[in-house]
Amino acid sequence: MNSGLITVSYIAASILFILSLGGLSNQESARRGNLYGMIGMAIAIFFTLLAPKMGGFGILIPVMLIGGAVGAVVAARVEMTAMPQLVAGFHSFVGLAAVLVGVANYIDTSVHYASHVERVIHEAEIFVGVFIGGITFTGSIIAFGKLQGVITSKPLGLPGRHGVNFAMILFSIYLGSLFIGANPPHSQMLPLMIMTLISFVLGAHLVMAIGGADMPVVVSMLNSYSGWAAAATGFMLSNDVLIVVGSLVGSSGAILSYIMCRAMARSFISVILGGFGVEAGTVTASASTEQGTVTSINVDETAALLKDSKSVIIIPGYGMAVAQAQHPVYEMTKFLRDRGCNVRFAIHPVAGRLPGHMNVLLAEAKVPYDIVLEMDEINHDFPNTDVAIVLGANDIVNPGAQDDASSPIYGMPVLECWKAGTVIVSKRSMASGYSGVDNPLFYKENTRMLFGDAKKTVEAVLAAVKQ
Ligand code: NDP
Repeated sequence: MNSGLITVSYIAASILFILSLGGLSNQESARRGNLYGMIGMAIAIFFTLLAPKMGGFGILIPVMLIGGAVGAVVAARVEMTAMPQLVAGFHSFVGLAAVLVGVANYIDTSVHYASHVERVIHEAEIFVGVFIGGITFTGSIIAFGKLQGVITSKPLGLPGRHGVNFAMILFSIYLGSLFIGANPPHSQMLPLMIMTLISFVLGAHLVMAIGGADMPVVVSMLNSYSGWAAAATGFMLSNDVLIVVGSLVGSSGAILSYIMCRAMARSFISVILGGFGVEAGTVTASASTEQGTVTSINVDETAALLKDSKSVIIIPGYGMAVAQAQHPVYEMTKFLRDRGCNVRFAIHPVAGRLPGHMNVLLAEAKVPYDIVLEMDEINHDFPNTDVAIVLGANDIVNPGAQDDASSPIYGMPVLECWKAGTVIVSKRSMASGYSGVDNPLFYKENTRMLFGDAKKTVEAVLAAVKQ
């Protein structure tokens, strides 16, 4: 096929990817954004297959069909709560692909370079691409394991680990000096292989050191790495669309990591250096200190309270996703709004287990966007609110993040629900959330604990308010 036409198709695909990212920035346009991305990817794949020098279709097409089918089945079956690990799993493939393409590129002796400079640049691309790809590969596997609960979410704090990481990076740079521009060409497999192994160890070690509460940033950080690995692969293969797509993913992942860090009041560097957060579902030592008394409430009392309320803010968290309570909670919202109560949802940027997790669930239940507000838009409204319902959320409503300097999540912005008239916390037990820290909210005077599975509880409250 004419290379000019391929260039035009790549430009069209790149524009669609940019439009896709633009669309994904807003709930109303997210579906359209996804569609642009899918069309862009279809164009990119189709025209790449028609590019000169393409061949081996007998292998390529069946492999693509099998890969596509597996991807489609896995993505269709995955629960929303398991989406972060799926994303991490997919990132590991991008990393592995960058490693394999880099090594294959190096051993391909049919490649001839016009000049020594050209060869140096190409080998530098291979080296950097394999290095980033290796880190992304094993880092993503560890992130998958941590999010899936196969590996402990506790940070691994080996003594002198920063020094070890630094030594690995320095040694890789030394190997790079042996590899790039060496004579004769294609003769330096050993440094490449040793660096590949180091990048595998480095990726695993870096993510092992990062604890539970920082996992959202790790997922978006790996997203960024996978983008840069893809961009490096694009340079190796001289494929423009891969360079553009890789750079878009790399930079948007980096920006998302920055936004997430800000939402958790953590610096990016301190996240990368790791060592923060303990295991979820446990109550940490601070729980054994005198926190005060816990007051529980039952379904009928909750219903009576809601019937008398003029304004209610619902704060969904990970537990709502686990219980799949979004549909009954919207039923209840509709019922209360019909009675004249102002019901709104407050969304914390790291609620749930992936960015936008709660927005997706509420959109699925058809909750109108105008009553779903971001933390900054609604936080100041709690003092004028009769009832705040905390639905399966924990860390994101922890007042310790504001007033307990010893808390591991100190400094993380939180939803100030305790400023509402009454706070109802719907969860199954007194267990901690993802970061593993105890929550002083549960012991506050105006807090009522409504124990039980979020879905069953909301259904029961809905039935009671309707009576
Ligand atoms: P948390 O993990 O802090 O708390 C969730 C709570 O839900 C738990 O305390 C649990 O208590 C309760 N719960 C679990 N299952 C149910 C159920 N079936 N019914 C009712 N309650 C249930 O979640 P938050 O959303 O408050 O905070 C998110 C946390 O996850 C933050 O620490 C964030 O950093 C982290 N994170 C966020 C990511 C993101 O991108 N959004 C990605 C990865 C981690 P109990 O067991 O007592 O029911």
